[in-house]
Amino acid sequence: MRLRLPEEPPTEPPTGYKIAHPMLSHDGTGAGFTGVSLGGALPYGVLADASCVYGLRHRAPSRRCDCGFHCVHDRTTAEALLCTAEHRAAVLLEVTVLGRYIRFERGFRYARQRVRTATVGPCSCGTVAAALADAGWGRPGWRALASSCAGCLRGRTSVSLAGFARLAGEGLRVVAGKGGLGPAEGLGVPELTAEAALLQARLDWFQAQLARLGERGPDGGGTG
Ligand SMILES: [Zn+2]
Ligand SMILES: [Zn+2]
Repeated sequence: MRLRLPEEPPTEPPTGYKIAHPMLSHDGTGAGFTGVSLGGALPYGVLADASCVYGLRHRAPSRRCDCGFHCVHDRTTAEALLCTAEHRAAVLLEVTVLGRYIRFERGFRYARQRVRTATVGPCSCGTVAAALADAGWGRPGWRALASSCAGCLRGRTSVSLAGFARLAGEGLRVVAGKGGLGPAEGLGVPELTAEAALLQARLDWFQAQLARLGERGPDGGGTG
């Protein structure tokens, strides 16, 4: 039995699935992901190279260490991970496994990764996602995002799904997964509708704030 890692690139790089939290950089100009367990401290971009999370001087993955990117072969296995309470706000990633890899029965541990598609689950209220909004936690320089519908944004920092894809770059696709209120399959019109709803919700919120300020203002609303 050979213990060497595969050196010949396969004709078609393998596809895998994993879950991660979407992250927005502090200044709002960068987007990436952070893992739910090992390596969760370091946000990674759409196209990224693994390094040893323990700071050891070997190339990741190494057989004597558990570092490197991880994914599973099966989409349903990854989806099942989203059921646990602490992973409810994570998104499902479809990735291309690049570089050296170690193959397991259920998945891969590998050196280089391209995230192709991120599927965002429904808002916590059950409505199909329109945006990714501040989840209330983060890493230094990065805030974690979670799915939100237009109605639940309430002025939080947020980006539309298309906006997140643009910031992340490298051709990433971000799609809204099925919600409790009906299917949101396919692209195009549902996503544009979601984006329009998002803009409308922002405008409503903005107008409500303005109205509140107006009520608190001097008598006559200062227009005299
Ligand atoms: Zn290592
Ligand atoms: Zn909602």
